[in-house]
Amino acid sequence: MAAFPTVQDLAAAETDQVMALWKGLGYYSRARNLHNAARLIVNEKGGVLPQNAKEWTALPGVGPYTAAAISSICFGEPVPVVDGNVQRVMSRLFDIEHAVDRKAGKQSVDEACQLLLDHTDPGSSNQAWMELGALVCAPKAPLCAECPLVDGCLAHARKTVLQRPVKQPKKPALAVEVIFSIALRNGPGAALQWWVERRPDTGIWSQLEAFPCEMIPQSSEKQAAEKVGLFAEQTDPEERFGPVKHILTHRRMTAYFETVRAPSEKETPGRWVDVDSGDANWPRLIDKVLPELRSWIVKN
Ligand code: SF4
Repeated sequence: MAAFPTVQDLAAAETDQVMALWKGLGYYSRARNLHNAARLIVNEKGGVLPQNAKEWTALPGVGPYTAAAISSICFGEPVPVVDGNVQRVMSRLFDIEHAVDRKAGKQSVDEACQLLLDHTDPGSSNQAWMELGALVCAPKAPLCAECPLVDGCLAHARKTVLQRPVKQPKKPALAVEVIFSIALRNGPGAALQWWVERRPDTGIWSQLEAFPCEMIPQSSEKQAAEKVGLFAEQTDPEERFGPVKHILTHRRMTAYFETVRAPSEKETPGRWVDVDSGDANWPRLIDKVLPELRSWIVKN
């Protein structure tokens, strides 16, 4: 907000500048979407912000939740905001048996929200439902005795409160091994430099900077073998830096860093950066081990 106080300021910013400011916050797609949305508003909508939920949803990164929150709170549009808290409250009030992250369950929650939305003040109504879920109808220890809705709550009457909301089981995160290749050279003034490439515009770590890398999804057989020690990693600390464990929303990463002779010509665009003094728009996985990695490079 300090760097780009208006939508015009954000639209005029360079991508690298936006990514650098977002550094360390994770969820980089949010920064990219905010930036693209600002550009779209300025370049195609004359700098005028959308005025209703449907128009907000047309912007990159704005889903039904954000659109409903903005349009009900800022513009008084009667659209329900459905976050995890509201989902929980509605699934308990109406004792919804369907999984709330599947079509039938979502529809039941939406209908309940529509029914209970106060059309005279939708912004406050939405915030009240969210607040009730956050403060009273808590996931593990709901304060039913203090709840203003206890008399009408079906799950409370049927003693199914802690079984609501029903959710479908989560898919396990994919285990991935990442091998980073670090090419080194002596740059101007004999400063040691490493080659950093700009990541592609889509996919993991898009538009950030990282060493060229290879990602190897781990097969379930290999994972099982590792569990019983058949593939115990024999990492020679002089040849590889790692393992670095890192967890993203859908991936469990184990990263290693190796030095290589030189970047191949096929690599995506990049630049030489001083190992000691230079910086880059690193993903969190690299940023968090940078001091140790630098020492390892210098030592080896
Ligand atoms: S009575 Fe209990 S379960 Fe029902 S809405 Fe209130 S806090 Fe939630």
